[in-house]
Amino acid sequence: MTDSGRHGFATRAIHAGQDPDPTTGSVIVPIHATSTYAQDGVGGLRGGFEYSRTGNPTRTALEECLAALEGGRHGRAFASGMGATDTALRAMCRPGDHVVIPNDAYGGTFRLIDKVLSQWGVQHTPVALSDPDAVRAAVRPNTRVVWVETPTNPLLNIADIAVLAEIARTAGAKLVVDNTFASPYLQNPLELGADVVLHSTTKYVGGHSDVIGGALVTSDTELDAAFGFLQNGAGAVPGPFDAWLTLRGIKTLEVRMEKHSDNAEKVTEALLRHPRVTRVLYPGLPDHPGHEVAAKQMRRFGGMISFTVEGGEEAALRVCSRTRLFTLAESLGGVESLIEHPGRMTHASTAGSLLQVPADLVRLSVGIESADDLVADLQSALA
Ligand SMILES: *Cc1c(COP(=O)(O)O)cnc(C)c1O
Repeated sequence: MTDSGRHGFATRAIHAGQDPDPTTGSVIVPIHATSTYAQDGVGGLRGGFEYSRTGNPTRTALEECLAALEGGRHGRAFASGMGATDTALRAMCRPGDHVVIPNDAYGGTFRLIDKVLSQWGVQHTPVALSDPDAVRAAVRPNTRVVWVETPTNPLLNIADIAVLAEIARTAGAKLVVDNTFASPYLQNPLELGADVVLHSTTKYVGGHSDVIGGALVTSDTELDAAFGFLQNGAGAVPGPFDAWLTLRGIKTLEVRMEKHSDNAEKVTEALLRHPRVTRVLYPGLPDHPGHEVAAKQMRRFGGMISFTVEGGEEAALRVCSRTRLFTLAESLGGVESLIEHPGRMTHASTAGSLLQVPADLVRLSVGIESADDLVADLQSALA
């Protein structure tokens, strides 16, 4: 087994859980397309595998790699980010328990808690996580989980993970950080005191917009056992090809995140100079309200930018429909640049609620194309 704890990030991304195959020498982890495993006599398992919902070697390689990237002891891979979210919440909450969630949570997370888990008696309070006093005030004796996203979607708000971890610990609750926007290269919540890290590996971790997946990483062996019980018991597992595609994407995570961050900085500069852009939201900007905290807990500031334009919703929709390189689409974190209108697309369901987003807001997932081309594309769309 690769001694991944001592290695740098890129080395772990390329080698953790991915030793050459002992029987064939295959340098790349094979796609183990099998549902079951031959036994040498009843219970005589050759490699510890008996059925692929319970465990599959390609998935195990991905799980070991994800754990190594977040500096956690245990990793679990899921069929989607929502599969991981559902597993985490159902493993940690019972009827009558309470969860603190961001007031700008990912829409799917809010929907799962508000529409599904509420039917099983799990209560929730949405809070602005950038305000620790508001979190302290929202925590109750029955609070089991404080759920954190940072940076958030699409307003790029920043929460102080170390401060929230302390609040959760004092309250006897677990702190879960959805680290999807930052990726494990830019931010490692377990090192800041979080109990669990969640990823939609669909986004930066996979990085190529070709696979849906999710992950949970923790160093808490008891929590991991509860996650494993539900992973097998409820079965939201990824297939071996999905696990393989995700592992393939992970190998370049460090170079991709560096380039996403470089390009986002250049796009931000161009937007700030543009007369029709009224506000630019990027945690790397010194006047962003979360800049200091972001600089403390993130390696760089990533590839997500939101901005508002002069002329309201109509102008924002016009920009979204006029780019050529930025593809108009939901999702984020791939090598190709995407543009979207949160109010009409990813966040349409928040209309009229306290999660509602500004109508003149445009969100960018800045890809790793040539920065000059991306800037020119936005300038012509804004003209
Ligand atoms: C996309 C996303 C999810 C959900 O992940 P899926 O893979 O789409 O199920 C959860 N949290 C965040 C922050 C996301 O961006």
